[in-house]
Order: sequence, then structure tokens, then C-alpha cells
Amino acid sequence: MQEASNLPTNEADRIDLRSLTHGQLAQTLSDMGQPAFRMKQIQEWVWEKGATSFDDMTNLPKTLRADLADRFTLGGVKQVVCQVSEDGSRKYLLAYPDGTRVECVGMPNGNRLAVCVSSQAGCAMGCAFCATGAAGLTRSLTAAEIYDQVMHVKDDFDTRVTSVVLMGQGEPFMNYDASLEAMRKLNSPDGLGIGARHITVSTCGIIPAIKRFANESEQFTLAVSLHSAVQRTRNALMPGVRKYSLMHLYEVMGEYVDKTGRRPTYEYALIRGVNDTEDELGALCDFCRDNLAHVNIIKLNEVKGSRFQPSSDARAGEFVRRLANVGVEATIRQSRGQDIDAACGQLKQKH
Ligand code: SAH
Ligand code: SF4
Repeated sequence: MQEASNLPTNEADRIDLRSLTHGQLAQTLSDMGQPAFRMKQIQEWVWEKGATSFDDMTNLPKTLRADLADRFTLGGVKQVVCQVSEDGSRKYLLAYPDGTRVECVGMPNGNRLAVCVSSQAGCAMGCAFCATGAAGLTRSLTAAEIYDQVMHVKDDFDTRVTSVVLMGQGEPFMNYDASLEAMRKLNSPDGLGIGARHITVSTCGIIPAIKRFANESEQFTLAVSLHSAVQRTRNALMPGVRKYSLMHLYEVMGEYVDKTGRRPTYEYALIRGVNDTEDELGALCDFCRDNLAHVNIIKLNEVKGSRFQPSSDARAGEFVRRLANVGVEATIRQSRGQDIDAACGQLKQKH
């Protein structure tokens, strides 16, 4: 509670109210002489209604609104560009107050709306096939900044968000605390109330974080980017996770399944002549058989200047069949928004 009294009161040092912990906000309001119920009112405005100005908070006394505005900002994102795909999905380039920019995508389907958000601006993992990896990491996002992307897409479509994937820019497990807090806020009835199973985090395989994630109480969904079950190939494609061996990943995923009883997804983007050979298919079958696993076969999306090419649709079909033969559930994921470069791995840093 100590931190609360150290919060800046100088106009020039205003901080984002949403970056305060629950305890800090409670203490601040109590220091301001406010009754306890103000906390809930403010939380509702911030997280459920997505208020971007204290003036919007019409059930707070005017003096309190002014006091809060003197001390805090409400963060918020600005839309720089929105591109609309033929398939109805929309890709947004958003800017935070410090000028950092990220992309996120809204994908409508009937009365459902899936949102793909970024957890970092850029990414330090350097996967060879990914446009985000090529530019390196600018910075990690806060929980509120991740959450704001969902709010922005929700407001733009003016409809309920039914699922969220942390599959935009960045590696969520290199920004674990903020990613998890954002997922919790999305799940919370005080936030958007999205079912935990409809909130998916995708990781390139940061093993200590997977272990930690296995112990979280919510039923969030886990996706692991595998892309090869052959160590040498995976090292070349995903240099950022070289230090975590496939054997270790296999073990830890076994523990994850034992602990949670939930089926993880493995993402596998087929790259012609690299990870689509017979040897690679055999290794993938071995990695997944006798394991609770769902394999998502992704057609590699084109990244400008990349030496990699996607495999044929026939080859993708063959992967699905052969996995099914050894009892592994597999599907081919259709990429949305390809015409606007909004598909997996195509979100890049733009300044
Ligand atoms: N950093 C996390 C989440 C963001 S990437 C991760 O790597 O899992 C989201 C997904 O897009 C990952 O499965 C990633 O491997 C995949 N991806 C990256 N580049 C791609 C490309 N060019 N084509 C298809 N999928 C790609
Ligand atoms: Fe980062 Fe994921 Fe892209 Fe790899 S695939 S560079 S981990 S965003």
C-alpha cells in the first residue's frame, strides 16, 4: 500500500490509472477521502465500458472526476490505419500515447468475433519465417495496452467479442505477467466476460513459462508453435528457443496435460522442402502420438523478401491424414485477411 502515497500528483507526471494494482487504486481513493464503492464504479468505467475520459464517468462527482484527471491519464489507443479484407476481417495499426505502434486483427464469423492481439511491439525471438521477428523487439506492452486492442476492435465492430488469441506481434511468454493479467481482465465478469477456454495464448515454447502457466487456475487455452519436431530444423527456424530442446518441451507438455487435462494445440506452418518432408512428418507423428494434442496445420503466409515458400495444399492434406492415422487430431487452419497482410506472421513493425 506504500506505493499509493508515492504516486505523482504533478500534472506533468500523470500516469495511466489502469496501470495501478487493485490495492494501489483502493489506497489512492481512500487517500482522496472517497467511499469504498467508488472503486467498483471506476473499475466498471475503465474495464467494462472502456471509458477514455474521466468526464465520461457520469456517476462520479464532478470534483472527483477533475481530481482524477489531474493525477491520471486513461491511456488509450489511437487508430492510425484500419484495412478491411475481402473476407470481412479488419487489421488495425494502433498507436499508444508514447508513439509505440502495434497491429491487431478482428475476424468476424456469423455472430462471432475473434480478435487477435499483440503482446509486444515487435519480438526478440527471431523466427526465420516471421515478419514480426525480422524487426526485433521495441518493447513489451502492459496488460491495459493488450486489453485496449480488444476494446478497440469491439468498439469498431460494435459487437460482442467471443474469443481472443494472443497471436499477433510478440511472444506473450516473454511478457508473462502482463499477458496473463490481460487474459484475466478479458475473462473477468468485471471486464469483457469472455470464457477462459475462448482465450488462447500462443508461445514459441518458453519452457519455464509453460510450467508456470500449467499452474494457473483458469482454463485458458495454450498453443505452442512447433513448426518442426526435428531438433536441427527447429533450431534453424526458431533460433530464439534453441536452448529449450524438443525433448524437454515434450516432457513439459506431458506435465501440462497431466496437470490441466486440457488439450494443447501445436502450430505447424508448412514450408516447402524444409519441414514438409517424410522425415519431418514422421517426427511430428512421433511427437504427437499418445499425447493429448491438436495439430493446426497452417499454410505458410508469404513474407516479403523471405526465402521460404508454402507447401502445396495436397501436402497439407497428407499431413492431416497421416496424423489422423496415428490417432492425432489435426486440422488445416484457414488464414484470414491475407489480402491485407493480416495473416499469421505477417504483422510487422511500422514506424
Ligand atoms: N510469438 C507467439 C505468438 C505470435 S506468432 C508464437 O510464436 O507462437 C502467432 C503464430 O503465427 C505462431 O504460431 C507463429 O509461429 C505463426 N507464424 C509466424 N510467421 C508465420 C508465417 N509466415 N506463416 C504462418 N504462420 C506464421
Ligand atoms: Fe516472435 Fe512468434 Fe514471430 Fe517467432 S513467430 S518471431 S516468437 S512473434
